[in-house]
Amino acid sequence: MKVLAILYNGFKAAKAEPRLLGTVENELGLRAYLESQGHEYIVTSSKEGPDSYGLTDVCSQTDILITTPFHPGYLTKELMAKAKNLKVCVTAGVGSDHVDLNAAVDRKIQVLEVSGSNVVSVAEQVMMSILLLVRNFVPAHEQAISGQWQVSDIARNAFDLEGKVVGTLGAGRIGHRVLQRLVPFNTKELLYFDYKALPEEAEKAVGARRVEDLKEFVSQCDVVTVNAPLHEGTKGLINKDLLQHFKPGAWLVNTARGAICNADDVAAAVKSGQLRGYAGDVWNVQPAPADHPWRSMRNPLGGGNGMTPHYSGTTLDAQQRYAEGTKKILQNYFENKPQDPGNVIVGVGKYESASYGQR
Ligand code: NAD
Repeated sequence: MKVLAILYNGFKAAKAEPRLLGTVENELGLRAYLESQGHEYIVTSSKEGPDSYGLTDVCSQTDILITTPFHPGYLTKELMAKAKNLKVCVTAGVGSDHVDLNAAVDRKIQVLEVSGSNVVSVAEQVMMSILLLVRNFVPAHEQAISGQWQVSDIARNAFDLEGKVVGTLGAGRIGHRVLQRLVPFNTKELLYFDYKALPEEAEKAVGARRVEDLKEFVSQCDVVTVNAPLHEGTKGLINKDLLQHFKPGAWLVNTARGAICNADDVAAAVKSGQLRGYAGDVWNVQPAPADHPWRSMRNPLGGGNGMTPHYSGTTLDAQQRYAEGTKKILQNYFENKPQDPGNVIVGVGKYESASYGQR
């Protein structure tokens, strides 16, 4: 079979650090395995423009496509129509919104991902992002490295997380882990908004309360963290209209998908102080252009920007897990064994995951 992987270029870092498995250079560690099984393995970073997918030619003959959310090779309906042999798309990581899932259902192309492979990595990033916003870390760090020392300029916008209301929009694998990690911080209350309730035991263990109306949910939170997949029901969900229902001066953390937020509306809310800050690692376009509004936005007191490139789910620990998980998915496929049900987003001709919207 022909297996095509779209990965990001790691350049010098990938040559020096072989554990950077999710790079073009280190090929998810799959070449020896795939070639020993008689398969052809093509790896490229090309994902944009007329040559996208290296490609259209290669893509038309590909049986199995591997992509990662960190360097999303958008598999559109049009591209899928050209990929006549394509049977399986594997996401090395979590989040398969870069594949047109409805088109995959129609064309009976399976979409599998390594569910759970980086959920701890992201939950830890969410904790870090909440703390760096609430405690006003970034301007403080900027003072430290630029030779300044003016405590009042930082402290005037720094708070404790203790006593605040924190809510997660999406309480699946990551959202639940975030709630678990928030418990020792003695928040005033933990809330969640999800069309699926947490199992009773889990809800009790974290002491979280489910709020069923989104506007009511955001209006009660000092901090909102977004942990839902990107799909028709979440695209642009956090926009000017919804932001008006947030508490004035709330903090927003989004490590789920950039396009869940309207980029201009969020930047305007940070600039006006309506949001005290926004942090995350996911962008509506990746790589983000140099003039993306989220790169330069600051609140009126000079802080409130906790953005990074998309890396929370691609720590070296996570890369090992999603590379191993990708191999396992391929082995199951080649050996005609069933896949772990949690990894199946789209099965043959139907959605198997309930996470990509209520259907
Ligand atoms: P999951 O499937 O375990 O949980 C997602 C939850 O979101 C589910 O409980 C689902 O019911 C809920 N949901 C879906 N639509 C919703 C809506 N409209 N409103 C409220 N809740 C909704 O997924 P997960 O493992 O927790 O991952 C969540 C997302 O995080 C992924 O889909 C991916 O986009 C993102 N992610 C980002 C990174 C990163 O590196 N930044 C890494 C992994 C995952």
